Amino acid sequence: MATRADLPHPEAPRPVHARFPFTAIVGQDEMKAALLIAAVDPGIGGVLVQGHRGTGKSTAVRALAGVLPPLVVDAACRYGCDPTANGARCDECHAREHAGARARARRAPVPVVDLPLGATEDRVVGALDLERALRTGEKAYEPGLLARAHRGFLYVDEVNLLEDHLVDLLLDVSQSGENVVEREGLSVRHPARFVLVGSGNPEEGDLRPQLLDRFGVSVEVTTPADPDARVEAVLRRDAFDRDPEGFARQWARAEATVRRRVTDARSRIGAVAVPHAVLRRGAELCARLGTDGVRGELTLLRAARATAAYDGASVVDDGHLRRVASMALRHRLRRDPLDDAGSSARVERAVGELFGAAVV
Ligand SMILES: [Zn+2]
Repeated sequence: MATRADLPHPEAPRPVHARFPFTAIVGQDEMKAALLIAAVDPGIGGVLVQGHRGTGKSTAVRALAGVLPPLVVDAACRYGCDPTANGARCDECHAREHAGARARARRAPVPVVDLPLGATEDRVVGALDLERALRTGEKAYEPGLLARAHRGFLYVDEVNLLEDHLVDLLLDVSQSGENVVEREGLSVRHPARFVLVGSGNPEEGDLRPQLLDRFGVSVEVTTPADPDARVEAVLRRDAFDRDPEGFARQWARAEATVRRRVTDARSRIGAVAVPHAVLRRGAELCARLGTDGVRGELTLLRAARATAAYDGASVVDDGHLRRVASMALRHRLRRDPLDDAGSSARVERAVGELFGAAVV
C-alpha cells in the first residue's frame, strides 16, 4: 500500500513560472476572497483553510503568489527589508546604514513559503552556530523559513498535524512581527512579518480552540456540487497540465487585473470609512453568537474594510459585513449542546436574523 510519503508532491516537478493561475480556479469563492483580504490587509491575522483532500486548498494558496504585487527590497539584505520603511528593518540593515552604505532597491516577488510538517525548529527559526561563534567571536546565523517568509505568506499544509509548540511559535511570531533566536546567551533577532496560512482536513485532527481563535479568518472548502463547475474545473486542470505556459499566458491579463486591484486596495484602505451603524451591527452579530472577547468584531471590521477597499468602495456597508461574517466568526463559536447546526450554519442564521433575508 502506498503511504502518503510515497505520493509525488503535486507542485514539486513544476517550475515556479508554471503555477496554476489564481484566477483560473473554478468556484472556491470564499477561499479566494479570504486570501485576497489577507493580501490587502496582512494584519488580518492569518487564514485557516479547512477541507478534504483534493479540494484545491494547496493549489489556491500557491497560486496566490501570482496575483501579489511585487515587493521593493533592499538588494543587500538577506531578509528582504523594505529600504523605504522606517524602523522595520533588521539590525544588519541598520549597521550598513550606520556605516554609510546606501540602500539599493530592487523588486522581488512576494514570498509564499511552504513549511513542511517534519521541519525542525532550527529550520523554522534559523540556526545559530554556537561553535563558530565561540571560535571566531562573530554571530553565525543561518536564517530559516521565517526569514524567507518575511513580508509574504507562510503556508502550512495539514496545520492540524503540526506539533503544538511549532504552531504556537508561528502564531507568536506572526503577531509580534519579529523572530528572536536565543541560544546559550547569544541572541539574534530579525523582522518576520508574514501571513500564516494553514490548511487542514478537520477529520484528521482538530486544532486546539485557543489556536483556532487566533487565526484571523477561517474558510471551509468543498468540491463544487454543480456538475458544470466540476467539468469546467477538470477542463482547466487538463489544459494546464498539457501546456502550463500556454495556459498561464491565457490567464495573464486576469492575473494582472487582480494584482492591480490589490495594489489599489492597499493604497485606498486607510481612507475607507466604517460608519458607526455598521460597527454596531457587527457587535450585535457577535453578541448574538456569543463570541468571547472583541477579536471577532475586530476581525469582522478589518475583513469588511479590506473587502470594501478591494471593491473600490470608500465606505463599508452591511453587504461587506455579510460577505465576511462567516469567515471572521465561524471558528470563534463555542460548542452549543442545544444546537446541532454547524458553525457556518449558525453564523448564516444569525446574519439572516439581523440583516433580513435579502440577498446582497
Ligand atoms: Zn534588513
